[in-house]
Amino acid sequence: MALIVQKFGGTSVADCQRIKNVVSRVTATKNAGNDVAVVLSAMAGETNRLIDLARQVQSRPDPREMDVLLSTGEQVTISLFAMAAKEMGYEARSFLGHQIPICTDATFGRARIEGIPNEAVRQVIRAGGIPVIAGFQGVTSLGDITTLGRGGSDTTAVAVAVAIGADICEIYTDVDGVYTTDPNVCAQARKIDRISYEEMMEMASLGAKVLHIRSVEFAMRYGMPLHVRSSFSDDTGTLVVEEDESMEDILVSGVTYSRQEARITVAKVPDKPGIAAGIFNQISDANVVVDMIIQNTRQGDLTDITFTVPQDDYETALEIVKRVAGQIGAEEVAGDDNIAKVSIVGVGMRNHSGVASRMFDILASHGINILMISTSEIKISCVIDEKYTELAVRALHEGFGLDQGPARK
Ligand code: ASP
Ligand code: MG
Repeated sequence: MALIVQKFGGTSVADCQRIKNVVSRVTATKNAGNDVAVVLSAMAGETNRLIDLARQVQSRPDPREMDVLLSTGEQVTISLFAMAAKEMGYEARSFLGHQIPICTDATFGRARIEGIPNEAVRQVIRAGGIPVIAGFQGVTSLGDITTLGRGGSDTTAVAVAVAIGADICEIYTDVDGVYTTDPNVCAQARKIDRISYEEMMEMASLGAKVLHIRSVEFAMRYGMPLHVRSSFSDDTGTLVVEEDESMEDILVSGVTYSRQEARITVAKVPDKPGIAAGIFNQISDANVVVDMIIQNTRQGDLTDITFTVPQDDYETALEIVKRVAGQIGAEEVAGDDNIAKVSIVGVGMRNHSGVASRMFDILASHGINILMISTSEIKISCVIDEKYTELAVRALHEGFGLDQGPARK
């Protein structure tokens, strides 16, 4: 007997038949003696369709109205789920974000959850019913509807799980777990049985799309175990849990990549205090998040600064830098959005040396030039020419023994 939150993604609720299948899965869990709260995404493709509609009427859609629009996708699936459950003889009740309420700040389009009272959800469970909660949406203290960012239903699920004190949060998706790398790029990718929160966080922020980053952050902060699994099979998927010692036996647990990166270089800048501040203050004022930064000194008191930004913000950042270049006396500005970032992640790196040099060797032996490098305790990232992305991912997957090595148990 456990209290379980089950979250189903867009492909799992893509049509009425699938919604009925999901109801069967939830009620089976209930019939086995558990209490269940459900969190749903919109039907697959629906959020994209809504974004497209908005762009047809306003070139840069108003953020507040955009959230009013985008939150409708989940309203459809939760109500259909509740009806289907009733049809099958179960009690279920749908909840929009403001009905719980899922309280957020007022950052439209990527709001942060600030608190969730659990009374409404608990009451339905106590009465033997199934609460069905709209993912992805919340409400501000002024009553405005917000959304949590693409993929944000995962975060709703974990936050609800924490709020009601669930034993586990199950994330049902269209793949059967978290993989050592993207199976679409590398046929040898294998499902990981157990992964630590920290590794999962790195993987999610470095390009693995299976979980919303903030959901992992939340789960880690509150020690909420996650089970990422397929809604189309009964197999166990990947458990995202607290790190334990045995996890360090494996050096690298995953290889990720992102093509959504761009690089900007400001060359021949006078080497004096305040230059980096002059550039990066303006970039952050424009809400552009800078990832890697490298500075190298030239002869004659000049320096070059190179950094990466998300590809979507490339034009904005380039414009700013061109403007600032004049003010700080930089001689050249260059940009390149045909780059990619490949990364290896693993808690095993903490206590083993030589992982970075091995990564560089593997890339070199395939003739791949490294443009930038960054490291943290449990990850190493290299920026490379975009056209080598797949080659690099496969080479690293093989080179670190992930093609056939034992999956972590
Ligand atoms: N429907 C939203 C999206 O497509 C939220 C989610 O599915 O997690 O991004
Ligand atoms: Mg998702």
